[in-house]
Amino acid sequence: MQRTLGVGLSLCLAFSAVVVSGSVAHAVERVRFDQCSELQARFPTGVAKSAVAAQSAVSLGYERPAVRKKVFRKNRKALGPPTAGSLCLSKIEVKEFAFQYNLDSSLPADWVADFETIINNLGAVLPISERIHSVPDVKMPFQIFAWNSAVPNPFPQIPGAGGASISGNDLLGKHMILEIPESEFTNNSLHRYSVIAHEYFHVYQIGLSEDIMEPTWMIEGGAKVVEELYTQQYYGQSEFDSGLFPVSATVVSNPAAFEKYDRDGGLVGSSADINYNSSAFMVLALVDMLEQRGISEARAFEMVLDDFVAELPDHANWRDAFQAVFSMNVQDFYSSLASGSYPSTGATDDWFEGPAIDVGAVLPSKSLTLNAIFATP
Ligand SMILES: [Zn+2]
Repeated sequence: MQRTLGVGLSLCLAFSAVVVSGSVAHAVERVRFDQCSELQARFPTGVAKSAVAAQSAVSLGYERPAVRKKVFRKNRKALGPPTAGSLCLSKIEVKEFAFQYNLDSSLPADWVADFETIINNLGAVLPISERIHSVPDVKMPFQIFAWNSAVPNPFPQIPGAGGASISGNDLLGKHMILEIPESEFTNNSLHRYSVIAHEYFHVYQIGLSEDIMEPTWMIEGGAKVVEELYTQQYYGQSEFDSGLFPVSATVVSNPAAFEKYDRDGGLVGSSADINYNSSAFMVLALVDMLEQRGISEARAFEMVLDDFVAELPDHANWRDAFQAVFSMNVQDFYSSLASGSYPSTGATDDWFEGPAIDVGAVLPSKSLTLNAIFATP
């Protein structure tokens, strides 16, 4: 019985499929419309009289209309006047960049308040480039997930997530993860706020150059410098106050090792780059070199943090972008680090092994602001 029923059903489906396809084949395309809304129900982006007219519409900021000479001719009086040879066009929607906050209740209310202030402050001075909408794995709104490490990851959308990063998954595309260590609340550590600026700046960088994010010392060092400039400006203190300790002496003897992450065989994020301090030093040393050419401090920071990243998509190799923006060979920059005068700090903290260098000579001015850097006309 069951088998017979099954066969009968599938036959029935096959029969109706024939009927449907038959009716489509015999349908006559409607050519006359009373209103643009009716025409757009059939041709959502309007109609053009020719391929050349369709191209003109695109160049005027409209979505590409269908080329239908007859439909155009039959409706040009009723629905005209035409725009550059097209009817009933639709403007391309300008996408706005937006974050969506997913803030767990484990976070203290004062952190949540500061989080919103920080994102708003950065959005005003460092707006994300419109270019980010063409990054394949960026979806709007851009999701931010934040929680206190005192509780397990409360978000089922990001299984296994932890720490702070810009990560990606198939469902959400790129998204920001902020697991704030519980100790940063109990110790009143400013890092619980500066990490927001750090990860925001990575989104800014992705907006400028999604494919090439090299060298790593520039990407992570840049984000580190921005987070410290943020807390210096808005909280009146930063790790610059303590000389950015510890900057490993390795950064001077082997700067090329900071072109890659620890996990990729380099030193960024390793014990020679605690809190990305060594990477940040390289950024500051480069800024200092530009200043020695008579470039203002704010402009020199802008060249390193912004111009360089924006230049990356125009070059197959980041070294060419470096040369183009700084008029300097990467190797010459590395050599100049070795010949610079960065004395040993002689510090002996038990949590840091190996020699650290004194980088006081390249620290930014106390009065420098992100606004001065990024609002340079
Ligand atoms: Zn980072």
